[in-house]
Amino acid sequence: ASFTELGLISPLLARLTELEYQQPTPIQAQAIPSVLAGRDLIAGANTGSGKTATFALPLLQQLYQAKSLESKNIKGNYVAGLILVPTRELAKQVADSIKSYAVHFNGAIKTVAVFGGVSANTQMLALRGGTDILVATPGRLLDLISSNAIKLDKVKTLVLDEADRMLSLGFTEELSALLALLPKKKQTLLFSATFPEQVQALTQELLNDPVELQL
Ligand code: AMP
Repeated sequence: ASFTELGLISPLLARLTELEYQQPTPIQAQAIPSVLAGRDLIAGANTGSGKTATFALPLLQQLYQAKSLESKNIKGNYVAGLILVPTRELAKQVADSIKSYAVHFNGAIKTVAVFGGVSANTQMLALRGGTDILVATPGRLLDLISSNAIKLDKVKTLVLDEADRMLSLGFTEELSALLALLPKKKQTLLFSATFPEQVQALTQELLNDPVELQL
C-alpha cells in the first residue's frame, strides 16, 4: 500500500515525500486506516517499527479536519490530543516528529511537550490558550493540572506510548489519576513492546472494541 491509499491528506503526503518515506511500514499500513476511522487500537510495537507516525499522522489529520470545521476555536486551557510517554527524551522526540509532520498545516495545529526535570514555568506559558496536541510524562502533567495550566476534559484522542515502560517506571498511580480526568467518550490508542498483566488490565479498562495488531 502507499500512504495515499491509507487515506492521508495532501499536506501530510507532501511532507512524507519530503522526508523520503517511500512506503508505509507494516504497522502503519495496518493501523492508519482504522485510526482514521475512529477505532481504538492496541499495537504490539517496538521502537523502529514506525509507531510514532502510526499515531501522529492520523491524529494530526483528525484534528486539522475538525479545526477547519469549527466556526470558532475553543477557548481556554484545553487539549484535544493527549500523548502520554514514559520519559523526557521520548516526549521531546515525539513532539519533534509531530511538529515535523505538521509543517504544511502552516501553524494550524499547536503541539507542546511537557516533562519533569526542568522548570514548569516555560511549559505553563506554552500551554496558555490551550494546545491541540500535548505530549506529556505523567507526573509533570498532573502538576500542571493542579496549577490549572491545562485541563483534560476536552480530550478527543488519548495515546499511550510505551505503556509497559510507563507502568514499569512506577507511573501506575499517576496514570490512574490522569485517566480519571479524561472524558469517557474518546479514541484510545495503546502501544507497548510487551504485554504483562498490568498492561493487559489497562487495556481491558481503557479500550473499546479495539483493533489489535501484533508485529
Ligand atoms: P519509530 O518506530 O516511530 O521510533 O520510528 C523509527 C524511525 O523510522 C524514525 O526515524 C522515523 O522517522 C522513521 N520512519 C517511520 N516511518 C517510516 C516510513 N514509512 N518510511 C521511512 N522511515 C520511516
